[in-house]
Amino acid sequence: MQAPQQGRYCGRFAPSPTGPLHIGSLLAAVASFLDARAAGGRWLLRIEDIDPPREVPGASDAIIASLQRHGLSWDGDILWQSSRIDAYRDALATLRQRGLIFDCSCTRATLGPGGSCAGRCSPGPGDACAQRLRIVEALKDFDDRFLGPQRCQDMDDLPTSDITLWRKDGLPAYQLAVCVDDSWQGVNAVVRGSDLLSQSPVQAYLLTALGCPVPSYAHLPLILGEDGRKLSKQNGARAINDERPLANLRQVLALLGQESAEAEAATPEQLLACATERWTPALLPTGAAPLVYADASNPP
Ligand code: GLU
Repeated sequence: MQAPQQGRYCGRFAPSPTGPLHIGSLLAAVASFLDARAAGGRWLLRIEDIDPPREVPGASDAIIASLQRHGLSWDGDILWQSSRIDAYRDALATLRQRGLIFDCSCTRATLGPGGSCAGRCSPGPGDACAQRLRIVEALKDFDDRFLGPQRCQDMDDLPTSDITLWRKDGLPAYQLAVCVDDSWQGVNAVVRGSDLLSQSPVQAYLLTALGCPVPSYAHLPLILGEDGRKLSKQNGARAINDERPLANLRQVLALLGQESAEAEAATPEQLLACATERWTPALLPTGAAPLVYADASNPP
């Protein structure tokens, strides 16, 4: 799909403040950090706080404090998506001028299979509408830097059409915000969890529609709890314990297959410096089996 952009590597960690960091989100933060630093690149922090209904009070501060406690220092200022609404509006207007946006008044119940409306609804005056992107060409397969070639037809949860860019409740949607900001911040290498794998062809499509370069994508193996459920804030995954950053980092490095002899590291920064030198994406456990995280050593 995309050749990595030219120029210095620029990566990012982009958490939504829907809860504190858990081991799965720490894994994504550490991997994107190491990948960026090992390439001599920049690593940015963006707080994706554009969904107030899902936001948990205090989560942004907790995430930032956890990153700091774990020695994960970012370049430049934090970008808060809530400060970028005008930029999202401008991008939407550009797409609308190009005839790529349609208004959709469908409810979940009236949408067809796969959440598709395909522009068939006819909103009346005053109806609350989402603004959706018309997908006029097939989404493209792509080469994932960690997982290898990815085919859209194999992705069960691939959003097929009608990508919502502006929600009915008046809020900008994730896809629009992420693309506008990745482009504006010069992000050219995205490293994140596999739960977002099927978003990548959509984001590549949207970036191309916006006339922006497409970053390279690299997804990490999904991490499951011992109960076999995906670790997520929604599943109540436990917050990482900021009092034991070295142990958390060692655990994450082991999960990433990067185990090595940094026993002597006395601080998170030293440990991350060693891990940066030794960062070997080829060691990532990218086989079919998901990573399983045993929480025994992280008592509540
Ligand atoms: N904000 C998203 C999340 O917390 C991640 C966005 C991304 O990495 O593209 O799941």
